[in-house]
Amino acid sequence: MRIILLYGGQSAEHDVSILSAFSVLNAVYYNYYQVQLVYITKDGQWVKGPLLNEKPASEEVLHLHWQNAGDTAQVIQACQIKEDNAIVLPILHGPNGEDGTIQGFLETIDMPYVGAGVMTSASSMDKITTKYILHAVDIPQVPYVPVLKNQWKENPKKVFEQCEGTLLYPMFVKPANMGSSVGISEAHNREELQEALIEAYRYDSRVVIEQSIEAREIEVAILGNEDVRTTLPGEIVKDVAFYDYNSKYIDNNIKMQIPAKIPEEVQEKARQYAKRAYTTLGGSGLSRCDFFLTSKNELFLNELNTMPGFTQFSMYPSLWEKTGLPYGDLIEELIQLGLNQYNQKK
Ligand code: ATP
Ligand code: MG
Ligand code: MG
Ligand code: MG
Repeated sequence: MRIILLYGGQSAEHDVSILSAFSVLNAVYYNYYQVQLVYITKDGQWVKGPLLNEKPASEEVLHLHWQNAGDTAQVIQACQIKEDNAIVLPILHGPNGEDGTIQGFLETIDMPYVGAGVMTSASSMDKITTKYILHAVDIPQVPYVPVLKNQWKENPKKVFEQCEGTLLYPMFVKPANMGSSVGISEAHNREELQEALIEAYRYDSRVVIEQSIEAREIEVAILGNEDVRTTLPGEIVKDVAFYDYNSKYIDNNIKMQIPAKIPEEVQEKARQYAKRAYTTLGGSGLSRCDFFLTSKNELFLNELNTMPGFTQFSMYPSLWEKTGLPYGDLIEELIQLGLNQYNQKK
C-alpha cells in the first residue's frame, strides 16, 4: 500500500510541516508501505517527488523545488494524486491544511486520508467556533472576546471598551485560524492591544482576545474514531510565560514532562474534558487537546489541534510513546483509523 505524504503547504506553519514529514519518513514501516512524496509549495503549487521504498538518507529528499522538474520533481494538478490502494497523510499544519480545506478536497476526489474530517477540522481550527461549541457542553474556558476585522475597522474605540469591559490586562490576542503561536501576542495596555490586533489581522480577519492567565500548560493526546483513547496529560515545562514560535521550534529550551506531575483528579478531569471536546467536535483519527492549569488546580481548555506537531520530539507522539505506542505503530494506527473512516462512509 502507498502512503501519499502531503507536506509543506501554504500556511505560516510550512516549515513545521517539513519537520513533521521528516519524522514520519524516518518511522514508517517500509516493509508494508511505500511513501509517495507530494510537496505543496508556499504559493500553493503541488510537486510530486520520489516514491520511497526505504528510509531516506537525509532530509534533502523533502526539499523539492518545481525548478527541478524533470529529475526528481514534477509539478502536478492536485487531483493527480488520486490512485488506488493508497491513503493520504496530510501532515499539514494551519490554514489550508488543518482547517478542512484539504480534507474537503480529498473527500471530493474520493481518497481515504488520515485524521479529522471537514467539519471537525474547520471548527477545531477556528478558535472562536471551538469556544462556542465547547461552551455548549460545559467545558471551562478562559473569558474571551471575539473581534472581527470589520468591527475593528469601523470602531476601534468600541472594541477597546468591549475588551476592557470584559477582560483585564494582560490579554492574549490571537488570529482565530492559525497555529504554532504565529500572529499571537500578549497585550499589557491599550497601546499594545492595538499593535497585537494589527498583527493578528495580518493572518486572519477573525481574531479572539482572551484573558491572559498564569498557568501551567498541559496537553492530552487523543486517538480514535468512535472508540476514543486518551493519554495521561503531559506538561510543557517552560521558563518563558508565552510558549511562542521560537520556544516551540528554535530555542530548544522547552522540556516535556510526561506524565505531568499533577494530582490524579486533575489528570482524570483533563482526560474527560479532552474526550468530551473531541466527541462533541466529531473528532476522528487524532487530536491534541491543550489546557491551562492554574495554581488552584483549575483547568481551562485552550484548544484542540487536529494535526498537532508531529516531529519525533513533539508532544503528541511523545505522549503515545510513553503510553507504549511507538512512533511507527502510531502511524500504523492512524492509517487504519483513516481507512476505517473511509470504508464506513461507503
Ligand atoms: P499550537 O501550536 O499549539 O497550535 P496556537 O498557535 O494554536 O498553538 P495557542 O495554543 O492558543 O496557539 O497559544 C499559544 C501559546 O500562547 C500557549 O501555549 C500559551 O503559552 C500562550 N497563551 C495562549 N493563550 C493564553 C492565555 N489566555 N493565557 C496565558 N497564556 C496563553
Ligand atoms: Mg493550535
Ligand atoms: Mg496547531
Ligand atoms: Mg496550543
